[in-house]
Amino acid sequence: MATKLIKPLRLLLLGAPGAGKGTQTSRLLEKFPQLNSVSSGDLLRQQIKDKTPLGSLAASYILEGKLLPDELITRLVKGHLSDAGWLSPQASWLLDGFPRTVEQATMLKSALAKSDTSLTMVVDLDVPESVILERIENRYVHVPSGRVYNLQYKPPKVPGKDDITGEPLTKRPDDTAEVFGKRLAEYHKTAAPLREFYAKRGILKTISGETSDIITPKLFQLIESQYGVN
Ligand code: AMP
Repeated sequence: MATKLIKPLRLLLLGAPGAGKGTQTSRLLEKFPQLNSVSSGDLLRQQIKDKTPLGSLAASYILEGKLLPDELITRLVKGHLSDAGWLSPQASWLLDGFPRTVEQATMLKSALAKSDTSLTMVVDLDVPESVILERIENRYVHVPSGRVYNLQYKPPKVPGKDDITGEPLTKRPDDTAEVFGKRLAEYHKTAAPLREFYAKRGILKTISGETSDIITPKLFQLIESQYGVN
């Protein structure tokens, strides 16, 4: 059942690539209709699809499993927040995949402070690495919407097609074993200081679980207990 937010929620989802941030995002948007979301990876993949100069730069980083320069990605996400009208204290939204470094977090913090829209909650999705590796092999995505499928746990209704639009699903080119290993290594370099950054501000929560279905009810309950009425 959909739940109404009684005050603005500005949420950041943290977690390793493949921890299920995209899946939890889709479920949160359904559960809390006032919530909007943006994924930095999806913004970059859209730029690649649109063949913009930023897109061609992003493609080389993404295919090597490397993080884009902090200033570039920060400018892109900030632009999106502003264009979407989310820099208003009434808006509720969630960020998926950004910030990924303390430098990005620091830049975002000062940008949000200006509009009195600081993050209100940060949730770290803690999933065992063995589970993540298995999951990535089976992952397919619908690029325009960011919807994520898993051939084992959540197959599309029609093989190879998005459930809502019927458009083709694709395998992310950076989901190969080799590139994925690099992405995980990059994640481990930056994750601990980032968690520390938000822990210090008292807004970090951690939810552990082996599957997205175990994590979702815990995540819903956490948000409902502070923000929700039916
Ligand atoms: P994701 O879809 O979040 O796994 O992101 C895919 C790729 O996009 C990453 O491996 C990075 O190359 C790039 N990317 C996404 N978000 C960021 C970010 N916040 N900072 C730097 N690079 C990013």
